[in-house]
Amino acid sequence: MNISLDKRISALIDQRDFLNDVRKNHWCILKRSVLEEEHAIMYKLLVLVFVALAAAQKASYENYKVFRVLPLQESQLNVLRQIEDHDGFALWNGPSHVNMTVDVMVAPSKFGEFVDLMNLIGTPYASYIDNVQALIDTETSSVVRSTTRFSYSVYHTLQEIYAHLDDLAEQHPNNVEVIIGGKSYEGRQIKGIKLSFGESKPGIVLEGGIHAREWISPATVLYIIDQLLNSQDPEVRALAEGNDWYIFPNANPDGYVYTHTKNRLWRKTRKPYSTFCYGSDPNRNWGYKWNTGGASSNPCSETYAGSSAFSEVETRTLSEYLTSISDKFYAFISFHSYSQLLLFSYGHTTAHIGNYDELYAIGKKSIDALAQRYGTEYRLGNVAETIYVATGSSLDWVKGSLGKPISYTYELRDKGRYGFLLPENQIIPTGEETLDSLVAMFKEAAKRGYPN
Ligand SMILES: [Zn+2]
Repeated sequence: MNISLDKRISALIDQRDFLNDVRKNHWCILKRSVLEEEHAIMYKLLVLVFVALAAAQKASYENYKVFRVLPLQESQLNVLRQIEDHDGFALWNGPSHVNMTVDVMVAPSKFGEFVDLMNLIGTPYASYIDNVQALIDTETSSVVRSTTRFSYSVYHTLQEIYAHLDDLAEQHPNNVEVIIGGKSYEGRQIKGIKLSFGESKPGIVLEGGIHAREWISPATVLYIIDQLLNSQDPEVRALAEGNDWYIFPNANPDGYVYTHTKNRLWRKTRKPYSTFCYGSDPNRNWGYKWNTGGASSNPCSETYAGSSAFSEVETRTLSEYLTSISDKFYAFISFHSYSQLLLFSYGHTTAHIGNYDELYAIGKKSIDALAQRYGTEYRLGNVAETIYVATGSSLDWVKGSLGKPISYTYELRDKGRYGFLLPENQIIPTGEETLDSLVAMFKEAAKRGYPN
């Protein structure tokens, strides 16, 4: 990412030098009064060129590779943990434990450095994705796009998603109501829907898209909305109609727009923290055990915790909304990708605290049901133990601060073959198996007396 930024800056400097030359020539041939006018015009032109160039540029990941690395010792893990703070390296799937693979995206200019480093510390590695840009280019081309109706099998822009939520409320006035869960730094709404059938029921909150580049998350949430409204399967109907639903497909709207317009692999919010570093990780910014591990204090980091808990307007306003409906819901599910994991609290400690045993048992039924349809295998456990210590997530805040008993995070497909760039033809299968697991989750929760 920084490489492409470097390129962008040097392109701008080249452009500026060129314009300066043009301006110097004018100095030689024009009178001073004319020149002053010219100067002002050129300055305006220059500004326009800067703005136009900045707007037109879209980050390219041509020939970037994703390497899969297998740390064999704790010391190797420590080196890998430091890698993301260096230009040209980005962690797609961060270091967790010895003998568990790590996915690192490397810019072409850093291949030599990367190979030297891996050989120096003696860590096995292999190229796993050969050209990231090629995957970006093919991600959205496998499915024929309908122009007449909203398709659940393609990735949509934020505008399309929000228009669709409005349409649903119009088409189903008795069951769907548009709700606003908060706002973004750039002034967008965090738009969602409340879905209800008949008299008021205990609620389930679904949060999608808090990490901008994880496109399968909002796409899966949209598929679930469709099924909750339209499925004729008796088990899905029971799940849909036995609960009220508060559903936000895009909890980080600025970031999501940015992944469509500027940088497909953007993860964070878009609040500027320094000249070159924007955004904090909105899933490290919530106010429960904030920044007590597994988050960064460096604004340039992908896991920057923010300047304080709830420094991001997105997390602050969404947390206020959730607090305002706290007596109306008992379960919270957030959707991320990738890795195929079903996670629950907490992220700050590997200790089994809260209702660990119960969440494990419910989660086990869920992942078993998920595997039935397509054989997709998930791992299950608390965040700190299953992946790594990470603090400031919405999951932990809902559990720790609001005390909600049923609180899970899905890391959806896949296991790294496509990573964040899951092709569109996997959207429906991902949605189907995830809905299967939700049916099983809430059946098992009900058996255990939830909501109580
Ligand atoms: Zn995520």
